[in-house]
Amino acid sequence: MSVNKQNYASIRQELGASNVTLVAVSKIKPAGDIQQLYDLGQHDFGENYVQELVEKQSLLPTDIRWHFIGHLQSNKVKYIAPFVHLIHGVTSVSTLKEINKQGQKNNRVIDCLLQVHIAQEETKFGFDANEIETILSNNEYTHANIIGLMGMASFSEDLTQVRTEFATLKKLFDQAVLLKPGFNTLSMGMSGDYKLAIEEGSTMVRIGSLLFGNR
Ligand SMILES: *Cc1c(COP(=O)(O)O)cnc(C)c1O
Repeated sequence: MSVNKQNYASIRQELGASNVTLVAVSKIKPAGDIQQLYDLGQHDFGENYVQELVEKQSLLPTDIRWHFIGHLQSNKVKYIAPFVHLIHGVTSVSTLKEINKQGQKNNRVIDCLLQVHIAQEETKFGFDANEIETILSNNEYTHANIIGLMGMASFSEDLTQVRTEFATLKKLFDQAVLLKPGFNTLSMGMSGDYKLAIEEGSTMVRIGSLLFGNR
């Protein structure tokens, strides 16, 4: 068991002051670790792999809000559609359509975030500014509710670069709010860069290793 209670307490305190939601990223970590953090009051958890999420969801308290933060393939949406709280990483229109379809089947509206490509690495996924504008202005989805944006900064020691990327995402977010009233979630910031992300306007951080130890 490797939950870092001290880090949890101090992060909670920091975030509480700025009204930022903490998603505890528990990928690869056992259900027992999640339960420990849950018992301390944490209810939002993030997972990257569909099968792992489905398994953990069946073992753990039903009032956990499960965030899917990994790369989601369209053919896997159906497994998490009945219970997922928020899908962070929507990177294609076909996935969005599938979320809408599965929302309909499950008789619920599924909240999701469009992932934006802000990093220098080509290997990271996401939409660009034009694509986001197109998606938001033809908002045709009744059961997929886009409530914000998500992004990952470059994996870099260059903090100026990271800050610039977060600022770019925040700017896009502010523009998107004008197109879609109800937009309220900007998911950016991880263990290594969440303080910067909050300074640049994040409303939701995804923190794993500071809470659960290295993977
Ligand atoms: C793993 C992961 C995180 C958490 O990373 P840490 O550096 O451990 O805090 C956050 N967001 C995404 C998308 C991830 O895949």
